[in-house]
Amino acid sequence: MQAVYSDRYQIDLGLHVFPTAKYRLIAERLSQRPDITFVEPEPATWAQLALVHTAEYLAKMRDGTLGESEVDQLELPWSAEMVAGFRLMVGGTIQAGLLATGLEVTSLKSQVVCHVGGGLHHAFPNHGEGFCPFNDVAVAARVLQDRGLERIAVVDLDVHHGNGTAFIFESDPRVFTLSMHQQHNYPLWKPRSTLDVGLPDGAHDATYLRELERALPQAMAHGPQCVFFLAGADPYEDDQLGGLRLTRDGLRRRDRTVIETVRAVGVPLVVTLAGGYARRLEDTVAIHTATIEEAAVNG
Ligand SMILES: [Zn+2]
Repeated sequence: MQAVYSDRYQIDLGLHVFPTAKYRLIAERLSQRPDITFVEPEPATWAQLALVHTAEYLAKMRDGTLGESEVDQLELPWSAEMVAGFRLMVGGTIQAGLLATGLEVTSLKSQVVCHVGGGLHHAFPNHGEGFCPFNDVAVAARVLQDRGLERIAVVDLDVHHGNGTAFIFESDPRVFTLSMHQQHNYPLWKPRSTLDVGLPDGAHDATYLRELERALPQAMAHGPQCVFFLAGADPYEDDQLGGLRLTRDGLRRRDRTVIETVRAVGVPLVVTLAGGYARRLEDTVAIHTATIEEAAVNG
C-alpha cells in the first residue's frame, strides 16, 4: 500500500492542543512495515486551492494579513511555515486521490491509499476554522472532478461535524457527504451534509458501530468512484476535545468496517487522519497507526 507523508507536516504551533508531531510519530511506527511504501507529496498549487477557496482568503493566508478575529477562528498562529505545511498537506490528499483512482499511474497500484495527514474538514471557502486553514478533501475532490470523476463520497467519522465540507458541497449532488459526529460539540453551526448522524454524548462502541452500519450503505448507494474517509481519532473515550466513549478496539472495528465495505465494491479509497487530541499523545498515535495498519492489511 502507498502512504503519502512528509516530515514537513510537523509544524511548530507553540503550546497547542493540536499535536502536529503525531504525523512523524505515526510514520516512524509504520516505517518498518514492508507492505507500506511512502510517497512524498508536492504542495497544492494556489490554483488548486482556488478550486474551493476564495481569492481574497487565499491572498490573506499567503501574505499573512488575516485579521485578529480570523486568526482566532482558525485557532492557529499564522506563520509562513504554517501555510507551507498545510499547503503541502492539501497536496498530499490530492496525491492520494490521484494514486487511488489510478489517474496518476505508478509502478505500484493500490486502490487504498493512506494519507498520514489531512482531514481538515472545518475549512470553508472564505475562512479557516478549528485548526483547518484549507479543506484538503474538498480541494482533492474538485481536482478529481476536473479530471473526469462523476461521483465522490466523503465519509467523515471525526468526532466533530464536517461543517466546511458540508457547506462546500451542499449544492453539488455529485458529492455525497456523510458526517457522523457528536451532536453537542463544536461546531455550533452545522450546515447540512447529505447525511448527518449526530450521536448523543457518551455514545459507546456498540451504538457507534450500529449507526455506522446503517449510514455507510447510504453513502455507497450514491455509486461513488472514489471515497474519502476522515478517520478522526477523536471519538476516543480519552479525547480532550471529544465527548464520545469509543475504545481503541471500537475505533479499529470502525476503520475495518469502512475499509472492507469500500474495498468489497472495488471503489478507490483515500484514508485521511483528521483530528485526535487524546490526553496521552501515544494513544492518538496508536489509534491513527491502527487505522493505517487496517488499510494496509485490507488494501
Ligand atoms: Zn475533530
